[in-house]
Amino acid sequence: MIRLQRVTKRFDGGSEALSNVSLRVDAGALAFLTGPSGAGKSTLLRLIARLERPTRGRIMVNGKDLETLPRNEVPRFRRSIGLVFQDHRLLFDRPVHANVALPLEILGYRRGEARKRVRAALDKVGLLQKENAQPQTLSAGEQQRVGIARAIVHRPALLLADEPTGNLDPRLSREIMQLFLDFNRVGVTALIASHNLELISGLGKPILHLENGNLEARHVTQARSAG
Ligand code: ADP
Repeated sequence: MIRLQRVTKRFDGGSEALSNVSLRVDAGALAFLTGPSGAGKSTLLRLIARLERPTRGRIMVNGKDLETLPRNEVPRFRRSIGLVFQDHRLLFDRPVHANVALPLEILGYRRGEARKRVRAALDKVGLLQKENAQPQTLSAGEQQRVGIARAIVHRPALLLADEPTGNLDPRLSREIMQLFLDFNRVGVTALIASHNLELISGLGKPILHLENGNLEARHVTQARSAG
């Protein structure tokens, strides 16, 4: 599903954010990405989502070589990915259901089908009863769950999350991680960046340690692997 071969990313004027990173994550697997602030976690996720381009190396996602992906295939590629951020980036001028519906609007779904999918997504994150609420009336944990519903509403095969529990207390953080484990159980591949080792160790999933842009080469398979 995800394959990086000797990937290096250097930002203009900066040092290497990622150095020679090789990684393989099989379809159906879930792995955590950890490391201190500045280690390169966000950069790695952004490269996989093709929000950034590597300086060197090769990235394959879902059978596509991102270097040679034709421009007109980029939207379809992005559709195969769900992105979750720390600051869920909800729009506060519209209710929950309209926030979750955004990706479907962009994809041109018909209203009836979109509504069905939005309700299914909100149901999965346990917020169906809040579909008409305004985001600012929700708790931080609920807002993050709306962000996750929006990330999965178009049923992506791959979920990338960047510090999805960064603003949440330990109990809510565990709930959010449990949601990702649930999605993974039904077949979604996931890569989740978190600096919170205490939270992610003990969940029985492989943990990839980034340090200063370096990552020990790993192959994450669907079955539980050591780590
Ligand atoms: P993490 O997510 O682990 O905190 P990042 O991937 O955000 O780490 O950052 C890795 C390194 O790349 C840091 O040194 C950061 O300053 C640098 N970096 C990230 N994004 C940019 C950018 N757009 N321009 C310049 N440097 C960047």
